[in-house]
Amino acid sequence: MNFLLSNERRISNVEGCFGASGQPLLVPGRVLVGEGVLTKLCRKKPKPRQFLLFNDILVYGNIVINKKKYNKQHLIPLEDIKLQSLDDEGNLKNGWQIISAKKSFAVYAATRTEKAEWMAHINKCIQDLLAKTGKKGTTEHAAVWVPDSEASTCMHCLKSKFTALHRRHHCRKCGGVVCSNCSTKKFLLPSQSSKPLRVCDNCYNVLSSGKVLPDQEPKRHNTVPTPPQKEDKVEDDSSSGEDNSDDEEAAAENPGVSEYQVPTTPTFYQGDHAALVGDEDGGTTEPMETISNEV
Ligand SMILES: [Zn+2]
Ligand SMILES: [Zn+2]
Repeated sequence: MNFLLSNERRISNVEGCFGASGQPLLVPGRVLVGEGVLTKLCRKKPKPRQFLLFNDILVYGNIVINKKKYNKQHLIPLEDIKLQSLDDEGNLKNGWQIISAKKSFAVYAATRTEKAEWMAHINKCIQDLLAKTGKKGTTEHAAVWVPDSEASTCMHCLKSKFTALHRRHHCRKCGGVVCSNCSTKKFLLPSQSSKPLRVCDNCYNVLSSGKVLPDQEPKRHNTVPTPPQKEDKVEDDSSSGEDNSDDEEAAAENPGVSEYQVPTTPTFYQGDHAALVGDEDGGTTEPMETISNEV
């Protein structure tokens, strides 16, 4: 079997894993470059997610049954993506940020080598795609959300302490965790949603003054995230339009998957990902042994 056929088979298999909950993925010219489990830093805590790198999109989803059933499919065009390496911090090692126009977040690989491998492959695919299409990478980038556990008080007024009744909100512009008093207004952020989204008072003032706000990183406490407390279980932001829908607890749908499942070794497939070229060696599905270091 040549690379073209193995590629089709692999993509059909992924489509099958998402079932009716996902979009059709088998389109002409698309190549599945690699796949594996990464730990995604979600709003509440780090969670395992299946990541699938294609030559034009990055797809991820929740794992219902490992390698058999996924749901909550998310799809990001590669031309929108920018990667940013993260320094190791406490238990969070081998991570990087996936920054895009609509949504940005941090992911972590099991080892330093796997991080290098993932980042090199993603960057190579972005480069090849931009070169092929002549498109320019996007300059609009959504802020990475500060996890709830990193803020016990409002990052804006520094006074309000969060409780079950006094809930956390995320500013869609800076990603900071703020109280309701400090985020009473909404602002239209067209790259993220067609509806106005909750922003903190700081961001509102800057946005409404018409000044261009550079992509900003909210101040982080330099601490290891603490285990979630009772109040963290309360879902909030129900009124704020777009949400990190893959962050929702799906314990009932996920009987076999441990929350703290270790990321598995990623598999990157042979063949040129930029162009569909049949290979001569019988379409092996062995993981690539060598890592491309060109970035
Ligand atoms: Zn506040
Ligand atoms: Zn803000």
